[in-house]
Amino acid sequence: MHEADYLQLVKRLCSSGGGLLDLGDTVVSPETYDVALLAVGGTVKAVNLVMNEKFQNAFALVRPPGHHAGAYYAMGFCIFNNVAVAATHLLRSFNLQRIAILDIDAHHGNATQESFYDTKKVLYIGLHQDPAEFPVTGFADEVGEGEGLGYTVNIPFPYLIGDDTYLEAFNQIAVPVIKQYKPQFILVSTGFDGHYTDPVAELTLSALSYTQAFSKISELASRFCTGRLVAVLEGGYSLRLLGKMTTAVIAQMAGVPYQFRDKHATADQRIQRRANKIIDEVRHIQSSFWKV
Ligand SMILES: [Zn+2]
Repeated sequence: MHEADYLQLVKRLCSSGGGLLDLGDTVVSPETYDVALLAVGGTVKAVNLVMNEKFQNAFALVRPPGHHAGAYYAMGFCIFNNVAVAATHLLRSFNLQRIAILDIDAHHGNATQESFYDTKKVLYIGLHQDPAEFPVTGFADEVGEGEGLGYTVNIPFPYLIGDDTYLEAFNQIAVPVIKQYKPQFILVSTGFDGHYTDPVAELTLSALSYTQAFSKISELASRFCTGRLVAVLEGGYSLRLLGKMTTAVIAQMAGVPYQFRDKHATADQRIQRRANKIIDEVRHIQSSFWKV
């Protein structure tokens, strides 16, 4: 997944005391290299435990996040791409042929998309905020290429979208595409930065979006891949809510009741109209590949 030179670069910068790994905001400390390896290892371990039927599903509570980290670059707080390594591991070590990656972080998973853009063995579906400012990929017309044409699905929402329109798009586009793909394993890049209290992103979702999405995802995993599902932590910077929402999702995956009341978030009509136009566009583009 990553170039050997890049691993050496991260290792060297960390052992020389740390610093900036990219031109933006990805800072490393002397401990980062080891911690980032543990994050990848924890994710791979979660996948192994599920594949070996020790657990039906798992949540890899790891940091740093991974979905912006590419073969030879760090970006957006991401050092190594935990989910992309896990998917590569599933392809190579377990010889799976259809892996679905659902990315619900508020930002587009540019590097995960890039890693599997030309293969149909990995379906990438990203639901994220308008990517024009960051990471400048993840628009509706990015749909994969070559053998992977149609196996990348991007749903870019306008800022301040709220729960209703988000869940509508999730249910009307992401869910039917996964059903038609019939994955053998589902990986979820689980960023909580779409929550309305988050200081970094602008989707303004409430906990409802996450619990409802996960209820659907668990259902799809049971139906198509004997429950095989691994969720991996990505972003989420509202420390007050991060623990609660993670617990709510884990409870949902475990089928354990957990009470967490959150205010339902709705968008104003102008934003809703813009969102509907974008969703129609996504549906139009994807209808060449899927029944949506
Ligand atoms: Zn994010």
